[in-house]
Amino acid sequence: MKALSMLYKALFITMSTSKIYLSSPHMGGSEQEFVNEAFATNWIAPLGPNVTGFEEDIKKYLQKNTDFNAPQQEIEVAALSSGTAALHLALILLDVQPGDEVICQSLTFSASANPIVYVGATPVFIDSEEETWNMCPIHLEAAIVDRIAKGKKPKAIIGVHLYGMPFQVEKIVAIAKKYEIALVEDSAEALGSTYNGQKCGTFGDLSILSFNGNKIITTSGGGALITKTKAQKDKAVFLATQARDQAPHYEHSEIGYNYRMSNVCAGIGRGQMQVLDAHVALRRKNNFFYTQLFKNINSVRIFMEPNKTYVSNHWLSCIVIDKKMSNGIGPTEVRLALEKENIESRPLWKPMHLQPIFKDAPYYGSRVAENLFHNGLCLPSASNLTSADLHRIEKTIRHCFNN
Ligand SMILES: *Cc1c(COP(=O)(O)O)cnc(C)c1O
Repeated sequence: MKALSMLYKALFITMSTSKIYLSSPHMGGSEQEFVNEAFATNWIAPLGPNVTGFEEDIKKYLQKNTDFNAPQQEIEVAALSSGTAALHLALILLDVQPGDEVICQSLTFSASANPIVYVGATPVFIDSEEETWNMCPIHLEAAIVDRIAKGKKPKAIIGVHLYGMPFQVEKIVAIAKKYEIALVEDSAEALGSTYNGQKCGTFGDLSILSFNGNKIITTSGGGALITKTKAQKDKAVFLATQARDQAPHYEHSEIGYNYRMSNVCAGIGRGQMQVLDAHVALRRKNNFFYTQLFKNINSVRIFMEPNKTYVSNHWLSCIVIDKKMSNGIGPTEVRLALEKENIESRPLWKPMHLQPIFKDAPYYGSRVAENLFHNGLCLPSASNLTSADLHRIEKTIRHCFNN
């Protein structure tokens, strides 16, 4: 009897103190079968049936609208080693050259902006708007007009669907069209999100996805470039496999890269595609949990879709805290309280125009992104959070706000 109660106690302690991560990988079950198949057929080298199968799965998924009225999209998918590699190739396909300028949302992960520097171009950063936290169309247009007046028309616009929330697609696309500037859609965090019933990842002239370990689905590391034509996809695959010309020997007339996804990783991706919609539903359920939790805590605003045009996958659930209303409880206090309970949370992305490495880059906007950075917090959002995990999170947060 005593041994049993000790066992329960030990079990309780491990359960209650195991770390809750912000966003951990969540396997569906059949990933290993696809990987085993790769081993059984010795398709360990890059390329192979899983890569083609994974690309086909993504293509079908992105083309499937959630509204009858949404237009059918012609797209092609190239599976790559990372989302960053996909952005790098996107800028190369758009012929961005040293000395060119590329416009980029400031509030984002550095991987959105770094490829601009890889090709020798200069980033021009744009503030966010309050509704979607993404690129502000007003500041975007002002920036384009000013850059043109200064003598240089930007070569591309990189818009990001932050934390899964679609940016103001109609307005941003219209501005890109008006000034005839290519739109690169960074959909790394937004696989499964929709705008007007059409999937994110299909709105850019070129779009990218990420399958990094913390994203909505993972291949342990990987990404994809979404193109509008087969010719663009073929060119991306050519560049991603060392730019080998047609010849029996290795002949090169262009600089190539080693950016293709391996057949083993693509096997994980095929398994993950089977559970993608279920995992999006679970992330959205987490968001609903937080909505309920903060319903009566007036100092906290939870990041939500502005209206029914937008459906976010809620990759991460985020809050903004008004410290004047909360007796001094801000994001830092909440983060440290969660950390004490072995629960991970994280500040919002630090805007790129405030990063030391980009301090000299032009910036258009005011302080929307900066204020979000100072007052926001990302909460645990994985699709495999248990009800015990949610209970621990709730208890800690209620305690924080004396609720
Ligand atoms: C994760 C991420 C990327 C980069 O993807 P990787 O696959 O990690 O290279 C790019 N942009 C955004 C917004 C991201 O969150």
